[in-house]
Amino acid sequence: MAADDTPTRSSSASSSEPGNPPRARIGAGGASGVATPGGDSPFRSFKPYEPADDEPYMGPAQLEHFRDILLRWRHQLMEEVDRTVNHMQDEAANFPDPADRATQEEEFSIELKTRDRERKLIKKIADTLERIDQEDYGYCDTCGVEIGLRRLEARPTASQCVDCKALAELREKQLHA
Ligand SMILES: [Zn+2]
Repeated sequence: MAADDTPTRSSSASSSEPGNPPRARIGAGGASGVATPGGDSPFRSFKPYEPADDEPYMGPAQLEHFRDILLRWRHQLMEEVDRTVNHMQDEAANFPDPADRATQEEEFSIELKTRDRERKLIKKIADTLERIDQEDYGYCDTCGVEIGLRRLEARPTASQCVDCKALAELREKQLHA
């Protein structure tokens, strides 16, 4: 239902941006450097959007493209949350040995943190979908420039351009230094 009219994934340079840095997480609190699979996986399953020459930025087709990405991402995260809950329920009764149980509790607390992070992400995705509905998507909250298709595909919930984001992260770092 998304962008059907991009039959060829052109092999030419598909990213006009210098680079999506490998550091995946937006440091929300940033304490744990744990790489979340959720930060990465949804972005493998779409074709990079190739706008027509005369196509306006964030016209209906582009909004639809990102709505689709976000919906699929959210769906995937929700499944992960379900899996975590089920997993914890399955395991909960299985360890009579206190030592095993301690290990298990540690594992659970990690899983709970992951789940918490997923919940926040799901919330953020919902907020972003709302912005798409209001056609208020794809522009930097801080300076107003176009965030750009490639950056949004790498990070569909981005609400700042690369520069403003970098600046914000720098400030954040200084605050906690
Ligand atoms: Zn900006």
